[in-house]
Amino acid sequence: MEWSWNVGKIAGIDLKIHPTFVFLLIWVGFYALFSGGTIATMSMEILFILALFLSVVLHELGHALAARGFGIKTQDITLLPIGGVARLEKMPEDPKEELVVSLAGPSVNVVIAGLLFGVLLLMGTFALPLEISVLMDNFWVRLLSVNLSLMIFNLIPAFPMDGGRVLRALLALRVDYVKATGIAANIGKGFAVLMGLAGLVWNPWLIMIAFFVWSGAGAEAQTVATKADLKGLRVRDAMISQFYQVEANQPIDSVFQLAMETGQHNIPVVSNGNYLGIIRRNDLMKALEHLGNRAPAYAAIGIEPDGLDADLDLVEVLPKFATSRVLPVLEGRQLIGLVTPESVQQRMWLKRKLKAVDQKPPEEEIDPIV
Ligand SMILES: [Zn+2]
Repeated sequence: MEWSWNVGKIAGIDLKIHPTFVFLLIWVGFYALFSGGTIATMSMEILFILALFLSVVLHELGHALAARGFGIKTQDITLLPIGGVARLEKMPEDPKEELVVSLAGPSVNVVIAGLLFGVLLLMGTFALPLEISVLMDNFWVRLLSVNLSLMIFNLIPAFPMDGGRVLRALLALRVDYVKATGIAANIGKGFAVLMGLAGLVWNPWLIMIAFFVWSGAGAEAQTVATKADLKGLRVRDAMISQFYQVEANQPIDSVFQLAMETGQHNIPVVSNGNYLGIIRRNDLMKALEHLGNRAPAYAAIGIEPDGLDADLDLVEVLPKFATSRVLPVLEGRQLIGLVTPESVQQRMWLKRKLKAVDQKPPEEEIDPIV
């Protein structure tokens, strides 16, 4: 998560806090103070919010440690005002593993609630049933009930919330993974609408969560479908192998000329057959403006993304487009092709079309009566 502060490590995982989280603490503090509270009640409120978010951290840690059991690392755990996010490297695709990872979080809240209940019993709080109002104010009782609600709320089958993941995993045990995700995502979007409506009349936090569920469901269904489409394809299948390149010492105006004539937006630069980097259209404009027409092509190189192996799975390439929209395919130091999001998309489209042709029922045979 960008714009988050690193506040430490828990079980080797970075713990981060989003700045808006601090606003929440300030708001809760002021609210307690201005609604007739004292410094003591205000401190109590802030302490409660911190204890609540400690429960959230432990919930996320539950997911992270369960994932670790399946060899999946967690990049970080971030606290937002609407809850926590454990960024797992990936979700396990084995439905049974996803089931365990998804249930691990809410289970932690059950354990916390159980422990608090034990403590309360020991303290004899429950021996005073008449003083229910005192009871409700009790810090520990509130923490117990909030852990139970965390458990229940997260188990709502609104994919990609925990309960939705449980639903997807259960569906994936019966039907194809992509189909299971599609169904879970649609149900998730349905819940997002309900949450949004409930949020309008009841609690604005719900609108934010509804938004998170809606966009998360759509994005994840899309990713899963794309990954399924890319399965079995390698970099060489989506590689542009016919392209122009320029020599390192060629003047920039000739590179510009080439770009104009061919319509190629990304021009690779080589020196004695060795790949050096790529000049994108913007790089070319900048170089013309600041370096002049006669500067050598290598001075205009804007990016030097890592080279890809032609046999690499295409699925692995997707995250790399985040750093560069054009990636070189290398054999040793020699450039053999370029991969762009568009070339990958075209290859996917072709595969889909070919599959559709394959699945067409065979033409019916006619036995003409002569
Ligand atoms: Zn969770």
